[in-house]
Amino acid sequence: MIKALRGTYDILPPESALWQKVEQTAREFFAKYGYSEIRTPAFERTELFVRSIGEATDIVEKEMYTFQDRKGRSLTLRPEGTACVVRACLEHKLLAQQGALQKLYYLGPMFRYERPQAGRQRQFYQIGVELFGTYSPLADVEVIVMMVRLFERLGLEGLSVNINSLGDKESRKIFQENLRNFFEPELNNLCPDCRHRFEKNILRVLDCKNPDCKKIFSSPEMPTMKSSLTEEAKQHYETVLETLEKAGISYKEDEKLVRGLDYYTHTIFEVTHSSLGAQDAVGGGGRYNNLVEDFGGPPTGAVGFAIGVERLILALKDLGKDNGEEPVSVCFVSFDEKALTENIVFAEKLRKAGISAVTAYQKQSVKAQMRQANNLDAKWVVMRGEQERAKNSVKIKNMETGKETIVSEDKIENSIR
Ligand code: AMP
Repeated sequence: MIKALRGTYDILPPESALWQKVEQTAREFFAKYGYSEIRTPAFERTELFVRSIGEATDIVEKEMYTFQDRKGRSLTLRPEGTACVVRACLEHKLLAQQGALQKLYYLGPMFRYERPQAGRQRQFYQIGVELFGTYSPLADVEVIVMMVRLFERLGLEGLSVNINSLGDKESRKIFQENLRNFFEPELNNLCPDCRHRFEKNILRVLDCKNPDCKKIFSSPEMPTMKSSLTEEAKQHYETVLETLEKAGISYKEDEKLVRGLDYYTHTIFEVTHSSLGAQDAVGGGGRYNNLVEDFGGPPTGAVGFAIGVERLILALKDLGKDNGEEPVSVCFVSFDEKALTENIVFAEKLRKAGISAVTAYQKQSVKAQMRQANNLDAKWVVMRGEQERAKNSVKIKNMETGKETIVSEDKIENSIR
């Protein structure tokens, strides 16, 4: 038997209904903030991700599904959405007007070659938003508020919002210099990965999960990003924190938060949920003021987030908020063969009137048909056979009370309502 690949999963009913509910809620929710959907391809030129996510990041160095197509071009299954959205915006000149806002959301699968575990797959889904065209800290706040309120709308309680600032280019330079001075005498105690990161992209040292490296990071001498922030960056960050408070969002400042992508500037954030264990981040994001320009676009302030849908679903299930599926209203039962066709035709009328209905397609015992109705958790069973036909009527059973009534065919819809 051929099975799904490690780290990939089938999403089956009834869970798929919960997925639909999450996706539908997100779409409606984002629309209320003025966002429109963008759909980009699942694969892009490899260069797009190497240049945006950053060369010494885990994603680029270890996790990309990269392959050559038949013309020998290097392509990569998208590991995240932001770079793709930026590429599409530039290609279609969506950011052409300086100062104009562009608000986009996306939904879809992402691919990373990671070690699979609970809440970590090789194909996983993200719901993300990108807001282009402003450097204002208020935009950072709105994006964070939007993420938290969406989780709340879905019934996800018990969230923590962790926040940090990576500052602007200047702050980053200061921080990198401070880190270099701090790590230089420790180089031999760092893992080989970190020694490589030290050379290539020192900020990425902070992504390391190696316990020996982490011990070094916990030294009181370890430079902090906060102490490297320029006045302007500090001001931006403080406005974000103050406004979050005003908006009623509780947060925790987390100086260790770096997030694994190079393009972030200023505010970065992550939302975690306690039920998720080691992989507890249900979503994260931040500001990226240089990315559009780095790809040849106009200087464009931007901020966004991505939610991990699998983790969101896991957390909702843990809270018992997993009833996405509406049971069908009507299940038809046929006492004889002729009724099969009559029911198929009649079920269409009900569906047209907005009532969900299912029928059988071949002769089955009444017992088997009733079992099917029970399995579907149908509210009503509509039965017909020779006796009912003779009177132009059907027998209706209320599955909750067990009460049966005979009604004429043209009254079915009313009786059910
Ligand atoms: P990132 O694109 O790394 O900022 O991730 C944003 C969110 O996507 C995370 O907070 C997770 O919820 C989710 N995510 C990232 N990688 C994976 C993965 N391998 N499997 C499942 N969810 C993931």
